[in-house]
Amino acid sequence: MKKIVLLGPPGCGKGTQSKLLVEKNNFVQLSTGDLLRLETSNSDSDLGKKVKYLMESGELVPDGIVIDIIVNKVEKHKNKSIVFDGFPRNLKQAEVLDSSLENVSVKLDHVILFQIDFKILEERINNRISETKGSEQRKDDNSETLLNRIEVFKSSTLPIVKYYEEKGIISKIDGMQKVNEVYAEITKIIC
Ligand code: AMP
Repeated sequence: MKKIVLLGPPGCGKGTQSKLLVEKNNFVQLSTGDLLRLETSNSDSDLGKKVKYLMESGELVPDGIVIDIIVNKVEKHKNKSIVFDGFPRNLKQAEVLDSSLENVSVKLDHVILFQIDFKILEERINNRISETKGSEQRKDDNSETLLNRIEVFKSSTLPIVKYYEEKGIISKIDGMQKVNEVYAEITKIIC
């Protein structure tokens, strides 16, 4: 049973690839973005509102909140293959992920970094914004938030590449390829 992290900026295709791994390879997808949206969808508490505000502005939600959510799920699914999508997003989260996996006697097998041309990424996300309308549209899918999310990725998330390089478990793939080509590369790495 594999435990893998897909690492890449917003809009790089992590969600699409995670869903393919769920459909074709029996993985459980743990997306902290999806879990946070679920947790806050019916929440009128001050905390819920604060989390929603952070998500809509493209900032990271405090580690404690995200970690609580993910640690429970890790315990629940420890005997299955898991793809972490959108977690970890900083060094602290990467360390917590290692220790929570260790607590249930498993370890991370692979971290897959999607290498992306940031200019083309912005075009892709702008297309996603114009293609989805009304209730389907994510509140954080707008140009201002997008630019902030990319900046947050560069400043908070990219530094964890070094952490995983030192552990020798990171593979870098060209995230600009077609969906099926990216999927083929991922399956080659994890099999
Ligand atoms: P995503 O769906 O992965 O693009 O995440 C949407 C938003 O949820 C992000 O912009 C953050 O505000 C928040 N979020 C998701 N995952 C995390 C995480 N691991 N740590 C902190 N905030 C997160």
